[in-house]
Amino acid sequence: MIEVRDLVVTYGAATALDHVRLSVGRGEMVALLGPNGAGKSTLADTLSGILTPAAGTVEVTGRLAHIPEGRQLFPDLTVEDNLVLGGWRAGTRDPSPVFEILPALAGLRRRRAGVLSGGEQQMVAFGRALMSRPEVLVVDELSLGLAPIATRDLAAHLVELNRERGLTVLLIEQNARLAFGVCERAYVLEAGRVVAEGPCAELAEDPRVARAYLGGS
Ligand code: ATP
Repeated sequence: MIEVRDLVVTYGAATALDHVRLSVGRGEMVALLGPNGAGKSTLADTLSGILTPAAGTVEVTGRLAHIPEGRQLFPDLTVEDNLVLGGWRAGTRDPSPVFEILPALAGLRRRRAGVLSGGEQQMVAFGRALMSRPEVLVVDELSLGLAPIATRDLAAHLVELNRERGLTVLLIEQNARLAFGVCERAYVLEAGRVVAEGPCAELAEDPRVARAYLGGS
């Protein structure tokens, strides 16, 4: 459902993505790992049409939603209003299906998004993405700045949506342990290039990947 071929994205003279190839099939949950500045957010922003390729192509089949890095909620609006804005393009105004999937949000619906904890705000960003009834979800840094328990909770919801509702997921993460725990396959991006890819079980055995991303020696 995501097909990226020989993608080149530049910021002025700087090349952020250099001939990247990546694909995610229907119903798959695939991880994209890499250090700061590797180009992960650039890829997410290109998939969602915020950035335009300098060369190569990106193809997304089905409705795509993107949970951006840093969540980017409207802090002065309530949780419910943030959700409703997420449904605007798809024409969905009723957040109750999202409350069924993420029941913790129902209790927060009248709170201002800006006063919530990081984990709660990430839950709102997740819910806002679900308001557009996506078939493909790109999650940029699910765990960034979150307590481990909040990360585990969100990851469990993601796995449930993938397994039970067939949601296709590209999970962008710096936390390889988390990504390997929930995804079958992964790509490793460094300095704008894919330097490793394959089943997570195999990548975890790769000494270079283990050293860089799993804290192995
Ligand atoms: P992080 O996890 O830190 O966000 P990332 O893997 O998502 O890292 P990107 O944000 O995609 O990396 O950045 C890739 C490269 O492009 C970096 O060298 C970054 O400095 C550069 N870059 C990102 N955004 C811009 C911009 N708006 N203008 C110029 N250069 C940029």
